[in-house]
Amino acid sequence: MNNRWRQIKKLTMPAWEYYEFYYPDPKPQLCPVCRGKLDVSSYHEEYHGCVETYKGCKGCSYTRHWSYGTTYLEVGKWSTKYFYSTPDKEVERIEDAFAREIVKERNRRKMERQKYYRKRGWRKAK
Ligand SMILES: [Zn+2]
Repeated sequence: MNNRWRQIKKLTMPAWEYYEFYYPDPKPQLCPVCRGKLDVSSYHEEYHGCVETYKGCKGCSYTRHWSYGTTYLEVGKWSTKYFYSTPDKEVERIEDAFAREIVKERNRRKMERQKYYRKRGWRKAK
């Protein structure tokens, strides 16, 4: 990448995006379900490059694990996997379902928290 292109990038990209462009994953990633910090790790092999990436949350069961072409997804009581050979359409459907399960689980946790507070007789401070 030459300097001119770098200058253009600098001008047209927001600072954080520019940063991310050169240094992927610089900041802690947050769990989409409970906003906890995600454990992120990846494993590289000399010849195959990146062969495994793992993102998981300790606070809930959110997991995205990719290993040798197999993707394992888990959220709440829902889990599934797809493979390198899975057709794009099917992958799209699964990723869609995963995104929906994340929202469902987020709402379920919210409801549970509210129930818990109600049982304890806690009120909003107002
Ligand atoms: Zn979480």
